[in-house]
Amino acid sequence: MNLTDINEIRALLDRHGFRFSKSLGQNFLTAAWVPEQIADSAGIDKNTGVLEIGPGIGCLTKQLSMRAGKVVAVELDSALKPVLKETLADCDNVETVFGDVLKTDLKALVEEKFTGLRPVVCANLPYNVTSPVLTELITSGLFESITVMIQREVAQRICARENTADYGAFTLLCQWYCETYKLFDVPPSCFIPQPKVTSSVIKLKKRKSPPIAVLDEEQMFKIIRAAFNQRRKTLVNALSSAMGIDKVFVQNAVVSCGLDERVRGEVLDIVKFAQLSDIFTKNVPENVG
Ligand code: SAM
Repeated sequence: MNLTDINEIRALLDRHGFRFSKSLGQNFLTAAWVPEQIADSAGIDKNTGVLEIGPGIGCLTKQLSMRAGKVVAVELDSALKPVLKETLADCDNVETVFGDVLKTDLKALVEEKFTGLRPVVCANLPYNVTSPVLTELITSGLFESITVMIQREVAQRICARENTADYGAFTLLCQWYCETYKLFDVPPSCFIPQPKVTSSVIKLKKRKSPPIAVLDEEQMFKIIRAAFNQRRKTLVNALSSAMGIDKVFVQNAVVSCGLDERVRGEVLDIVKFAQLSDIFTKNVPENVG
């Protein structure tokens, strides 16, 4: 069966009485080159254990199965159970798990299912939960790489450089834990039903260590969130109001990082945020947070 042929997909889904769910972000691929290219980009071989999130009818799962040692595919929609049983019948190295990936104990899953394998993620993510799923995957530190298709707008935010409109707290979170790469775009015409927006495939490679040492990582991210929560304000105003810290202290800290006191948060790269955070840690730990 060709799992990207639109007529075969329709016949398969009709046979199983399946209805697409918008709230589950169900847009299935209908262009053979897309799952092939996603799987090719993921750096998978027989020593790899792949976690796929949302296999749908299994078109990417099949490509992963051909390349990997093992694939575990977590799918929330149990209506896809009989469909996947049929489409993945000859994929011996695939295990499907029915449940919500956001409620799954990923550490236990990796330990149980991927013993002796390099764990990676490869998926066409459901768009409605992209950010929480990626945050969970990235901060878990469990996966060597994460190759996923997401909305282009979110891909641009993840891969943004400082001083651009796309740059924000989520950019810095992703780039703190991973090297980020935007690989290629996929137009709406490659899906059924067609989404309203263009998609992009990105690859996140886990860093061996953070891009720079920082005394208190948690505090640095508090500062980052405060800076971008009110991104139109100057950094000094945003931080002093959000964190309840004396404005003169923040001003001095910003200037001692070699920055203009009227600077906005979006101008700072991760190194500057780490530097600023260390000044806070050394001088006003009891005030922060
Ligand atoms: N992989 C298929 C493809 O590329 O054609 C389907 C991708 S579709 C964009 C997203 C899939 O994720 C759907 O099958 C949906 O049911 C599933 N899904 C949605 N939310 C989920 C969750 N929280 N946990 C696991 N799967 C989820």
